[in-house]
Amino acid sequence: MKAQVFYGPGQLCYEDVPIPVPGAGEALVKIEVALTCGTDVKTLRRGHPVMIPRVPTVFGHEMAGTVVAVGRGVTSVREGDRVVAANSAPCGECPLCRAGRANLCEDLLFVNGAYAEYIALPPRLTAKNLVVVSTALSAARAAFVEPLACARLGIERGRVEPSHTVAVFGHGALGCLLAMVARARRARVVVVGKAGWRLDRVRALGLGEMVDAGAQDPVATLRALTEGRGVDVAVDATGHPEVWEQAIASVAKGGTVVFFGGCAPGTSVRLDTQRAHYDELTLVGAFHHTPQLVRRAVDCLESGAVVPDGLLTHQMSLAEVPGALELMARGEALKVLIRPDAEEERSRS
Ligand SMILES: [Zn+2]
Ligand SMILES: [Zn+2]
Repeated sequence: MKAQVFYGPGQLCYEDVPIPVPGAGEALVKIEVALTCGTDVKTLRRGHPVMIPRVPTVFGHEMAGTVVAVGRGVTSVREGDRVVAANSAPCGECPLCRAGRANLCEDLLFVNGAYAEYIALPPRLTAKNLVVVSTALSAARAAFVEPLACARLGIERGRVEPSHTVAVFGHGALGCLLAMVARARRARVVVVGKAGWRLDRVRALGLGEMVDAGAQDPVATLRALTEGRGVDVAVDATGHPEVWEQAIASVAKGGTVVFFGGCAPGTSVRLDTQRAHYDELTLVGAFHHTPQLVRRAVDCLESGAVVPDGLLTHQMSLAEVPGALELMARGEALKVLIRPDAEEERSRS
């Protein structure tokens, strides 16, 4: 089969590799659709010690497909099931897993290999985070499960309610998914971004009100939009410390700030201690997802509560993954849909 194999920073090679044979507990999935992700861009540039502990490995981590074979002992899925796989599986046994915080598992197993025609999913992932989806759900939508599960965590950590005004800082794919999940909870949503084609695109998706942080002071604008009170929940999806500070400054008394976007190592933010104390601010991180959130994300997509189609800006073949990631790196794509079978058809003709 064809696969995009990662050998280290800057080294992605399009190669012929054997179709994996599923061992005991494993499921072999024929990949229908993979999606590019901002994490792929970062990982290709500088590696990722947590998500990619060993190289070489097939690259990519957002995918949906069909089970074509299972190894001995697999009972959770069978041949012919349409499935979506998360990109990790928790151990289920460490103190954090037992406390219901599997996203923080001390032994989170990460799985890569979406940019290929097939993937053999390891036993733990097959058992815990490979979910059967209905035949009515397209693979292109199902592949959004992983980032959507992360977005659901962010909105749940913010305890968003229908009466809330929620500001989402950042209008990349995850900012948009956060806005969609908050909208699905019937909250009022304001997306803070910078003018350009992406903001226009997001505006066209009708996710909520828009603030152009390049032209307006976002904190003052958010306060003006809320009669001076500030927003109930602010979510950072940019991973910039200065934006974290804006998010903190924009929440109302009793407000919640969700730190969803990871900042560069070694950075820090200034916190107004008076506000943190007298306004009883809740400042909370949100990282990754849990098996429960993965299933809720599937429900969200199956019920149509979240329809992510508008975030797909391009469609490319497996061979074109490097070009897709360049588009992402230049900020010219939100998400690129990769179809391995488009590749096969081309090479056959
Ligand atoms: Zn991702
Ligand atoms: Zn664990």
